Amino acid sequence: MILKGDLHVHSFFSRDSNITPNDLLNAKIRKGLDFIAITDHDEFRGALKISRLLEDKVKILPGIELSAREGHIIVIGLDSEKDGRRYLKLINSSVWDILDEVLDNNHVMIIAHPLDIIRGGIGLSLLYKILKRNSPMVCVETINSASCLSPLYSRLRRTLSQRFPYVKQVGGSDAHIADEIGLAMTLVRSSGCSSLIECLLEGSTIPYGRYTNLGLRVKDVSAKIKLKLTRLSS
Ligand SMILES: [Zn+2]
Ligand SMILES: [Zn+2]
Repeated sequence: MILKGDLHVHSFFSRDSNITPNDLLNAKIRKGLDFIAITDHDEFRGALKISRLLEDKVKILPGIELSAREGHIIVIGLDSEKDGRRYLKLINSSVWDILDEVLDNNHVMIIAHPLDIIRGGIGLSLLYKILKRNSPMVCVETINSASCLSPLYSRLRRTLSQRFPYVKQVGGSDAHIADEIGLAMTLVRSSGCSSLIECLLEGSTIPYGRYTNLGLRVKDVSAKIKLKLTRLSS
């Protein structure tokens, strides 16, 4: 079985995105997505609400993009308020504390845009330290459509394939506006698994997709400015 989806999408519950449930539905149809992970900044309630709202229409993986002390870490597989609250307590904590929580609860950690240090990437040295723990619950986002560092990520994909061949590499758009959803995706190849998280953990993954172009970047930035102004005036 091969499934494809976007593992890094923000929703209007994020402070800097205007993506609505309808946008997700349209993107699923337009791009033929089997799943979409909602990963709002330090917030999970929107992801849970959207997954319930679209239950029969599109497979939503509720998640969170946590601001750890060292950078941005995505956790997916959150099925309840209780799951989400565990991670809200860990905002600004160390990635090691988040990893312990992920391992204790059979969730999945995705190290988001690790090379984009100015956008919250944790950097190469900490990435390698984490990967040396050899945990099957840790994936690395080696394609992030919002990054400007595509040649460095190409090199990272090759290096990880050689040095850490068992580590799962994934792709995500980091979409904050509807047009960006599905720009980058993850193919999950698996058999005999009963849930998407299980497939992700037991199968193999291939990241693929493309990077945001100038037109979309301008659209993205103006949407963020508009949101900021709206929130300031309300
Ligand atoms: Zn991020
Ligand atoms: Zn993000």
